[in-house]
Amino acid sequence: MKYLSEYRTADLARPLIEELQSFPPRKLRFMEVCGTHTMAIFQHGIRSLLPEGMELISGPGCPVCVTSASHIDLFIELALQKQVRVAIFGDLLRVPGSKGSLSQASAQGANVEVVYSALDSLSLAQQHPDEQIIFLSVGFETTTPTVAATILEAKRQQLDNFSVLSTQKVVIPPLQQLLSDKSLAIQGLLCPGHVSTIIGAAAYQGIAKDFKLPCVVAGFEPADVLLALIMLRRQCEQGCFAVENGYQRAVSWQGNERAQAMVDQVFQPADTLWRGLGLLANSGLRIRDGYSHFDADKRFGLPLPESKEPAGCLCGKILCGQQIPTDCPLFGRACTPQNPVGPCMVSSEGTCAAYFRYADL
Ligand code: SF4
Repeated sequence: MKYLSEYRTADLARPLIEELQSFPPRKLRFMEVCGTHTMAIFQHGIRSLLPEGMELISGPGCPVCVTSASHIDLFIELALQKQVRVAIFGDLLRVPGSKGSLSQASAQGANVEVVYSALDSLSLAQQHPDEQIIFLSVGFETTTPTVAATILEAKRQQLDNFSVLSTQKVVIPPLQQLLSDKSLAIQGLLCPGHVSTIIGAAAYQGIAKDFKLPCVVAGFEPADVLLALIMLRRQCEQGCFAVENGYQRAVSWQGNERAQAMVDQVFQPADTLWRGLGLLANSGLRIRDGYSHFDADKRFGLPLPESKEPAGCLCGKILCGQQIPTDCPLFGRACTPQNPVGPCMVSSEGTCAAYFRYADL
């Protein structure tokens, strides 16, 4: 495991570590919402720096991990249609559904193409005029503006062979659901940095007020995470529950209003299915009727199958903060990054992958 002293922010981090460790022992449980934070926390050994009694649990903020087995099965079904080519981000390739992954389907003849941005899938549509190109859209608010821009561009180009299957998600509803579960006893939220560049720090005000919960938006450098943990801890010591922005160099209070307007033009709220959390009202985004020509859901009309999660896999409970990877009997045995059983081991931001790579077990 690497420690903070090995990183370029060590000088900045040292006084932060000292301040964090100066807090008196107290049982406190904070959730880091975002998968990138989970990785940063493990990679930099931050858990080992926490004062006595302070605990961090991982939340539902890895978009690949929260994609349900039903959606993976639907993606595979689409990819196996004649004259169809699906475009995906690479991290989705090995996520297992109930009958295998897109990677395995590709080996059996499904037409699957990895792209680096949603806009790349428009080039595919131009290169393959005899095929229908479907972009399988998986992500949170960070990626939604790019998908909206892609749909607007497809409309401008009057592309006839391009559509998007939207499983885009929004971050507030699952947090509300988790925080309603008093058994989790979450006493502070480390709010996601990337998502907050779009939605703004103000988006967490309802959560802070309704659940009387300290919320701090955090960046991803070790010093950013330490600072955010100190800000959370200070609020706990003072009995406050406010939203604070610890990542002001990237996140504003109102967020990116231009991006929000573009998303609102193309998408509208919809119920969607989450791995571990089930169907959550208004937790997803579907394409508005004005852009239905680019909505693969409407064009192909395939129903969402009822699929089972991989046998023995605890990803659903890990994403809800109810269990940790080492509770899973498959961890490090039947399930490894080379041979993953569940999405939390596949994703580069998955909690199981973070434990496997960095935790001292
Ligand atoms: Fe699922 Fe593998 Fe994690 Fe177990 S170790 S919860 S099987 S991803």
